[in-house]
Amino acid sequence: MALEDAKRQVDTAITRQGHRGLSYENAFGGVTSFLRRTLTKDLTGVDLAVTGIPFDQAVTNRPGTRLGPRAIREASALQACDAPYGWGFNPLEAFDIVDYGDLAFDYATVAEFPAVLQAHVACILDAGAACIALGGDHSISLPILRAHAARHGPLALVQFDAHSDTWEDGGPQRIDHGTMFRKAVREGLIDPARSVQVGIRTDNPDPMGITVIDAPFVHDNGPAATVARIRQVVGDAPAYVSFDIDALDPAFAPGTGTPVWGGLTSAQAAAMLRGLAGLNMVGGDVVEVSPPFDPSGITAVAGAHVAVELICLWAWKKREERGTDQ
Ligand code: MN
Ligand code: MN
Repeated sequence: MALEDAKRQVDTAITRQGHRGLSYENAFGGVTSFLRRTLTKDLTGVDLAVTGIPFDQAVTNRPGTRLGPRAIREASALQACDAPYGWGFNPLEAFDIVDYGDLAFDYATVAEFPAVLQAHVACILDAGAACIALGGDHSISLPILRAHAARHGPLALVQFDAHSDTWEDGGPQRIDHGTMFRKAVREGLIDPARSVQVGIRTDNPDPMGITVIDAPFVHDNGPAATVARIRQVVGDAPAYVSFDIDALDPAFAPGTGTPVWGGLTSAQAAAMLRGLAGLNMVGGDVVEVSPPFDPSGITAVAGAHVAVELICLWAWKKREERGTDQ
């Protein structure tokens, strides 16, 4: 980085020439987009679009995740001037990655929300771009999975979470952040035999056939053994990675609706996400960041880091497919 660049650059979210490269503008100023990517609704030539889903009307406890995308974008500004650490390549130089902005929806017609979100993500996928979503509560993963499954067929779900989110549901019309993966199995969107949940530390008598790697397993055996187990289950199936920030211990992510102690450290999460390089990842999300319960901003920081790791995970596989050393 050159100081001269920092003096000249500002608002690269709207002034960047092309979609690639780092950003050297002041981290504390300027228009915020995720990682200072171009903020645009034009998906021409775009490889991956990050989009915010500011929806939190399906929570069982504390709300606030509608403010998550904005807080994650702001937190990500500090990461925009360096290549992501620990990957040995820079996806921001190798791929056209943009911030597609937020989903537009009527907050008062909640019943229509899932279809609106599914169409939003389908629009991104139809343009030939991959999608990383910033939540929002975890219920957003179901319409997003519907859009991905329509394109890729049944997916392997790799879910980091304190909760299984496969609890019994009262019916198809309910929108609930604790039941959507039960629906996803029932609808055939995910293949439970290829799916895995990591960091679980709440009881659920019926995991719907999904492999559960609970938080004590991670603590007892470490990230490398956990990654090996995940790979064993998922194989080379097209995978969707959903990261509920409450997978992390409340010490690392207090700003969330349903915190549970005994969770993952941020170092364990980073090691596992990097350890999964080569996963056939087709999409993902980071959800449940609730800024009103995040006075120091560390949960948004964690969310921004997870989102960057998801981009790297996707880019690693894409890079292999392209057969390039870039
Ligand atoms: Mn959870
Ligand atoms: Mn969840």
